[in-house]
Amino acid sequence: MQSRLRPGEETTDTAEPRDAALHFIGRIHTPWDSREFCPRQGKQDGPECRIEVFPPWDRALEGIETYGRLEILYWLDRSRRDLIRQNPKGDGTRFFGTFALRSPQRPNPIGTALVRLERVEGNVLVVRGLDCLNGTPLIDIKPDRCEFTPKAPDKPGSE
Ligand code: SAM
Repeated sequence: MQSRLRPGEETTDTAEPRDAALHFIGRIHTPWDSREFCPRQGKQDGPECRIEVFPPWDRALEGIETYGRLEILYWLDRSRRDLIRQNPKGDGTRFFGTFALRSPQRPNPIGTALVRLERVEGNVLVVRGLDCLNGTPLIDIKPDRCEFTPKAPDKPGSE
């Protein structure tokens, strides 16, 4: 389901989209089934959302409960991928290149959000701070870089 082009927006011919290099590791459950009500950026006091992690990757959640904040990467699967120039307001006045925006319409539609981890329920992370449609595929989960202390030995030259 591609969104409609707005007057003056520019696209390019792209190869048939292929997602084969990525392996979806779960699915994100949110209250939003349409873009109209989905927030543009998640808020830490937004509604609870559920990040379901599929086996065997649920076993990779070990230790995650020690973090208050996580970085979530997801695949904005209902985006068009051919937009070079966009008119976010749809008013035909101001245009921006795709890489000057955080629009979901991009050649590789990866979304990222910093979320607050409320609790872990088995293979489900209950979080606040997401901005994706219900059913969005999950790509990766990482501890927030500010909270994370490397577990590997120091490397020469690193502080
Ligand atoms: N926080 C992410 C980022 O900055 O990378 C995504 C920001 S993007 C502006 C969020 C918008 O993408 C939502 O308001 C909604 O309109 C759209 N969106 C959310 N989930 C989507 C999906 N699965 N496919 C396509 N568009 C989606």
